[in-house]
Amino acid sequence: MLLYTHPACLAHDPGPGHPESPARLEAVLHAVRAAFPQLAWREAPAASREALLRVHGKALVSSVLDIETDGLRRLDDDTAMSPGSAEAALRAAGAGIAAVDALMAGEARQAFCAVRPPGHHATAGTAMGFCLFNSVAVAAAHAVHAHGLHRVAIADFDVHHGNGSQDIFAGDPRVMYVSSHQAPLYPHTGLPSERGVGNLANATLAPGSGGEAFRAAWRDTLLPELEAFKPQLLLVSAGFDGHRLDPLADLALEPEDFRWISHELAALAGRHGQGRVVSMLEGGYSLSALRACSVAHLHGLRDAA
Ligand SMILES: [Zn+2]
Repeated sequence: MLLYTHPACLAHDPGPGHPESPARLEAVLHAVRAAFPQLAWREAPAASREALLRVHGKALVSSVLDIETDGLRRLDDDTAMSPGSAEAALRAAGAGIAAVDALMAGEARQAFCAVRPPGHHATAGTAMGFCLFNSVAVAAAHAVHAHGLHRVAIADFDVHHGNGSQDIFAGDPRVMYVSSHQAPLYPHTGLPSERGVGNLANATLAPGSGGEAFRAAWRDTLLPELEAFKPQLLLVSAGFDGHRLDPLADLALEPEDFRWISHELAALAGRHGQGRVVSMLEGGYSLSALRACSVAHLHGLRDAA
């Protein structure tokens, strides 16, 4: 397994008291380094503009990369940029691209991109929900366009619906997007009736749901969709804000639940995609939950490899 990260991802500062803090990534990196001392760390390259423009409009790419940010620049009520944010967003997206390239070259079967800002809320044209570029979508589009894959799946277990990932691929049968998420909750999309061109599957979880409901949603609905799709490459939007301690949501998941879904996803990738899994850090706002869940996630992936 490879780990991609970059110090620039710690320099994105959305403002004092913001839950999407650099301390989140520090917590993940420290926990993963202690639990997996043998893991191969690689520095994430910057994504090219061409790669970003496969999924984002010119205006969004330009507003993140070309406007000098002096102090704090607000993009919406909860999304802001600091002087280090553009480089962080480039490295976060670049991590996914490099991980896809490494797996397709046979250098490893699994990669975890420990990066921020998160990405799955960013739509083709709008940065939102703490997200600037949709890194997992950039990686999926790269797999399609640079490697010629025609069945790429994104599995998203972040507690929020990845409206951006769904928006970007809703009309593209080469990419499947499946998500479990709390409802009602931001961004209030992701109803089970939203099926795209048959390439979307959404499962909603009521506030207070615990591991049993979470596992049932994946076992009964989402994993069968992925199984039928037979992804050549599986991308994971790994958000840990479904943990019971998370301050932004109300699910009651435990690290063991994240280990379970990670194992199921990696086993599915083993049946259809030569075991290729690229996981990208999304949300998770309790530092202690982030530590425990990121380690559980990598255990689950590795045990199925
Ligand atoms: Zn989230």
